[in-house]
Amino acid sequence: MPFNDLGRAVASERAQLEAAFARVLDSGWFVMGPEHNALEVELAAYAGVADAIAVANGTDALALALAGVGVGSGDLVATVANAGGYSSAAIRRINAQAVYVDVDPEALLLDRGALEDALETPAGRLKAVVVTHLFGQLVPMEPILEWALANDVLVIEDCAQAFGAQSEGRRAGSWGDAAAVSFYPTKNLGALGDAGAVLTSRADVAERVRRLRQYGWGAKYRIDVPGGTNSRLDELQAAVLRLRLARLDESTARRREILARYRAALGDGGVRFVGGSASDEVGHLAVLLTDDRRAVRERFDAARIGTDVHYPIPDHLQPGLGVDGVELPVTERAAERVLSVPLFPELTEAEILRVESVLRELTG
Ligand SMILES: *Cc1c(COP(=O)(O)O)cnc(C)c1O
Repeated sequence: MPFNDLGRAVASERAQLEAAFARVLDSGWFVMGPEHNALEVELAAYAGVADAIAVANGTDALALALAGVGVGSGDLVATVANAGGYSSAAIRRINAQAVYVDVDPEALLLDRGALEDALETPAGRLKAVVVTHLFGQLVPMEPILEWALANDVLVIEDCAQAFGAQSEGRRAGSWGDAAAVSFYPTKNLGALGDAGAVLTSRADVAERVRRLRQYGWGAKYRIDVPGGTNSRLDELQAAVLRLRLARLDESTARRREILARYRAALGDGGVRFVGGSASDEVGHLAVLLTDDRRAVRERFDAARIGTDVHYPIPDHLQPGLGVDGVELPVTERAAERVLSVPLFPELTEAEILRVESVLRELTG
């Protein structure tokens, strides 16, 4: 039983995918054409924002969202260090500087107290914060927005793992000055290749991001803003995403249902799942926390069930990032304790039962 199997969704959608590809082939338009334009409108409507700007991938979306709100060279940007290093890559790309903030031990999400403590640093004052909705969970946004507004800090949401998550009728990506989404194939809304989007309801930000994603052009062949790049989305990916967006709520419901079953099977013991108090999660990953990861992983190996670790090395300890003198006790401890088990909508009943049975043994 694999940790994930992207081929299953493709198999069940084969005819519709081929029809979508045929539509694109027949159109003779391959980059930023009608599928792309329709996708942008549909994404914005779904997320409840004024604008969605489709880009080449989620890391570009983060960098373009940051640049779009006005973060630039030397600016300080708060971020967590337990979310795979994407925000670190984006922050560095625009020559800004990451200020790493610890997470809370329950949900492993940005710790608001730690964020507030990071407002003034020896290097200066925070310009922005990247709020990462990790593992499908939503970070409670209202208190962060209130604090950010009072302190003139810009807010970027990273919705790569929580697209579609909602709280009181609002979706992930609709709170911040801008938000980034990834449609990497394993995400809840996945393309058949790389894709991403920036979401925003600020017209000035939307306009800047639209220019930055295509060389800084304000009009064809005329560069109006510096710092532009090529981060366009192609028609084939846009067509796939439109097809899958129409079904996202259904596949999200399935993910939530499977995760709820896992939680119930595990019961109370030394091993637990991350989060679980909020009802608004979209089940991107099912992440266990255990003091003996090696032993728990061996139980799943023995049952021939694939597992993974999200993520083994916190950003501030990545050898290639060269960060000195940062200590994040909760983040560092969690990196040694997290273990992800299979969670995707196409899991079969027999497979879910197998995972549940190992989970039951863990408690007993
Ligand atoms: C996947 C992911 C990204 C980056 O997306 P890519 O499309 O792979 O560049 C950013 N943030 C988080 C939290 C992610 O999981």
